[in-house]
Amino acid sequence: MGLEMRKSCEACEINISIETNAYICTHECTFCETCTENMNYICPNCGGELVRRPKPSGTCPITSK
Ligand SMILES: [Zn+2]
Ligand SMILES: [Zn+2]
Repeated sequence: MGLEMRKSCEACEINISIETNAYICTHECTFCETCTENMNYICPNCGGELVRRPKPSGTCPITSK
């Protein structure tokens, strides 16, 4: 298991780079910031809350083994 980093918005299919702000729900539906605001931060697929996707960083010394 792992967080799949989708590279496009599921609503408008705009390209979402790693540097772009993107929003995901708990089921990892991925949307761009504009669509997320238009949808009032609610995932249209599952009705879940959309939260900002964390940007990938370096290896965490605590969680990595
Ligand atoms: Zn979009
Ligand atoms: Zn969803």
